[in-house]
Amino acid sequence: MIPFNKPCVTGKENEYIQDAINNVKLSGNGPYGKKCCEWLESYLKAEKVLLTPSCTHALEMTALLIDIQEGDEVIMPSYTFVSTANAFALRGAHIKFVDVEPETMNIDASRVEDAITDRTTAIVVVHYAGVACDMDAIMAVSEKYNLYVIEDAAQGLVSSYNGRALGTIGHLGAFSFHETKNYTCGEGGALIINDQRFIDRAEIIQEKGTNRSQFIQGRVDKYTWRDIGSSYLLSDLNAAYLYAQLQEAESINDDRLATWRAYREGLKPLAQQRKIELPTVPENREHNAHMFYIKTKDEPERKRLIEHLKEHDVMAVPHYVPLHSSHAGERFGEMSGPDVYTTKDSERLLRLPLYYEMAKEDVGHVVEQIRAFYEA
Ligand SMILES: *Cc1c(COP(=O)(O)O)cnc(C)c1O
Repeated sequence: MIPFNKPCVTGKENEYIQDAINNVKLSGNGPYGKKCCEWLESYLKAEKVLLTPSCTHALEMTALLIDIQEGDEVIMPSYTFVSTANAFALRGAHIKFVDVEPETMNIDASRVEDAITDRTTAIVVVHYAGVACDMDAIMAVSEKYNLYVIEDAAQGLVSSYNGRALGTIGHLGAFSFHETKNYTCGEGGALIINDQRFIDRAEIIQEKGTNRSQFIQGRVDKYTWRDIGSSYLLSDLNAAYLYAQLQEAESINDDRLATWRAYREGLKPLAQQRKIELPTVPENREHNAHMFYIKTKDEPERKRLIEHLKEHDVMAVPHYVPLHSSHAGERFGEMSGPDVYTTKDSERLLRLPLYYEMAKEDVGHVVEQIRAFYEA
């Protein structure tokens, strides 16, 4: 069976984890945590990066940092993972879901303005499949209405928009190092801070609401409870694993891009015959090959294709069920504007196997089986 995903292993993980054990410093912000943060700050050209136990936690920190209050409204796409919405629903926000554009499955920036009311505090964008949203349009609306922009860049490490790393364009950004993402440590995440006024408070929120980070930096002589917070720290064992992956970021990216391009080339004839649709990467956006998906005619055709692929040892999987029509989505938010593409295209989208060091023959086999399905 060709699996849908295989977590990336570069070969240095064991050595770094053993080294972390020898350091006798396994809690958060330890030696490997510092190395990862420095690597990320330099690679992304970010003001400040904090490692978190997950992207979910990094998103929760953004909601705390922008002081979301009961009844505030937050705008985001309905086509996203639950964590994007949960982080804000946890603080009492009401979610205004907006339709996606079919080319990228990212939030339709032209519909954001209609969703704004005098209760709106933030726009949360999701860079689906590691392909950037239309950030110029999003930033322009946010400036006009004085709103925060949070980037859920869970899938977007090493992607960019007009040369700027995803996660560094809005006020705050969040990455995921879950095993399904391009760079992983099993479970992990990062908060990207692009506005200096958030840094001190982010360090306090990360350390259970205390100024322990300032104490360690020698800026205060004891640490006390300063604010609300939680334990948003990543163990140094996870950071050691992650560092092995970040060091190989370029070669992991090249390898994934090669697979992505092979899919694109192999499936182009079917797209030209209008049997399937392929993903679009708009100009000035470099992507990281996080995902390769196709769109079938409709949901029944997708179901038959999934079955066909399974019979030929290929795991292909659908993705998000739109949040606005889910049980919790109806309780914590609502669709703003029409749902032209969110539901329809989520029912047609099918993700193909894509992971680091995927064998060329396996990519070829997937392409061949999709062709066979449409030729039959
Ligand atoms: C994976 C993902 C998350 C959650 O990441 P975790 O690290 O598992 O918390 C959030 N948003 C999006 C868009 C994701 O793809």
